[in-house]
Amino acid sequence: MWRTHNCGELRLEKVGEQVKLSGWVQRIRDKGSLLWIDLRDRYGTTQLFIEGTSASAELLEIVRSLGREYVIQVSGQVIERISKNPKMATGDIEIKAEEIKILNTSKVPPFTIEDDTDGGEELRMKYRYIDLRRNPVKNSIILRHQMMQYTREYLAGHDFLEIETPVLIKSTPEGARDFVVPSRMNPGEFYALPQSPQTFKQLLMVSGFDKYFQLVKCFRDEDLRADRQPEFTQIDCEMSFVTRDEILAAFEGLTKHVFRKARGVELEDFPLMAYDEAMRRYGSDKPDTRFGMEFIELNELAQGKGFNVFDQSELVAGICAPGCADYTRKQIDGLTEWVKRPQIGAKGLVYVKCNEDGTFKSSVDKFYTQEDLKNWADKAAARPGDLLLVLSGTIAETRKALNELRLYMGNELGLRSNDVFKPLWIVDFPLLEWDEETSRYHAMHHPFTSPREEDMHLLSTDPGKVKANAYDLVINGVEIGGGSIRIFDRQIQQSMFDALGFTKEEAEKQFGFLLNAFEYGAPPHGGIAFGFDRLCSMIGGTESIRDFIAFPKNNSGRDMMIDTPSQISTEQLEELSIFVKKPTE
Ligand code: ASP
Repeated sequence: MWRTHNCGELRLEKVGEQVKLSGWVQRIRDKGSLLWIDLRDRYGTTQLFIEGTSASAELLEIVRSLGREYVIQVSGQVIERISKNPKMATGDIEIKAEEIKILNTSKVPPFTIEDDTDGGEELRMKYRYIDLRRNPVKNSIILRHQMMQYTREYLAGHDFLEIETPVLIKSTPEGARDFVVPSRMNPGEFYALPQSPQTFKQLLMVSGFDKYFQLVKCFRDEDLRADRQPEFTQIDCEMSFVTRDEILAAFEGLTKHVFRKARGVELEDFPLMAYDEAMRRYGSDKPDTRFGMEFIELNELAQGKGFNVFDQSELVAGICAPGCADYTRKQIDGLTEWVKRPQIGAKGLVYVKCNEDGTFKSSVDKFYTQEDLKNWADKAAARPGDLLLVLSGTIAETRKALNELRLYMGNELGLRSNDVFKPLWIVDFPLLEWDEETSRYHAMHHPFTSPREEDMHLLSTDPGKVKANAYDLVINGVEIGGGSIRIFDRQIQQSMFDALGFTKEEAEKQFGFLLNAFEYGAPPHGGIAFGFDRLCSMIGGTESIRDFIAFPKNNSGRDMMIDTPSQISTEQLEELSIFVKKPTE
């Protein structure tokens, strides 16, 4: 037997018992006549105690040869500690070691296995198997496991069937590039890895499995950002004979269940907000509603007073930063520089200080009277001591920049706590978005999303106006998931492909299988997918999704540990009928 107990479970009531533990050497303290070892495994840490005067020479020799991360087995008696450690679950006891066996040695690890390690990100990625021994990372992986179980528990409990869909498929358009896999048996032909199981889950509805889910790997070849991975996991679902509101209720239920079980948080009911309203009030389709500072549109009050910049703008809008009227010149210059950065893109920043004495001081005093500024302040419901920050430009630019500024000020003022959760559903997205570059419409969600019933007639006449029966779940400004009611009629699907500029042949070639399926009794259906890694990081309370993935990739899509992507041999390439031009001298 390797062990009778694990390193996290022994308590006072076991005092006197003979036990055997196995684990990793976390730390050794050698005080000459007294030695202690912290022995660690997945479950915790237990202190081993060796008394120099009574221990055998053999035992002492072994103990003195140990190094960090050696794997050892210890036999001994559980004793009560004289100086207890209340911070440790096993802190009341220790093991008086009688025998220690070295099961394996270890090189000195490249970084310390502590909660706050000295290892840099890249180094830890390279030695991920060691990094996974550290408590914060280990606990994140355990949390992920638990969340998977809670998800399955809830969905299976609501009659959803977990059905796997293939990984070697044909491209599905979710708006990113596909990863492709060459087929040896079909020279010159390729599979694509799924960006999502979208078409398959719809086919499962045609088959009659009216509630499907899957915890599924999806692959998107996108430029990576800190919170993106080329392969990621979704909680993917689809339902038949279902209305939008039934889907929202089911997944609000799932979200509440997982938050309750995994984080001990009771979420309030999720409000609904239309996309247009979200854009107007927050300039974003994923508003962070943990704090107010909503947009105030000032066109009516600010235009026609001789200030050219505002007069020429499509939108003049501001936010009211509470209690910031005492910002110094330097602070305001700092904010101005910040909004003018290319990533934010504002041309300048107008401020209005609402002084405690009821007067106003602004950067545009030349153009506006005290009364004008008071009108702005009233519209913003600003109080003495507040600061209005105003941007202008096209509607799109102004909203984008003001959204960034609002989030920035939210951080500055400490209004974005990780312990507060504000979920909401964003609904009624536009169906299509115009792409200047290619001069055609793209599906905002994907081409299988149904237009709203009442907008159906606009599809051929004014497609840009059509709203989709689509929804996103947003929590704290993060898009956790999204989905839609689907088209289930061949003709409508066809007109959608038309609106997207597909020729009949292209549509047939790429999606013929789905169009055909729609001719064999496709039920009305809809669904949703949640980004599971992101949900984990939100519940886990950290920004990075990498911590919640056992073996993540870095920002350039590399696995630093196995060192891939990597080259393959000429033989392999030839077998796959891939001919790579050799670089010429
Ligand atoms: N397939 C969609 C996605 O991955 C989700 C859905 O429409 O169900 O975003």
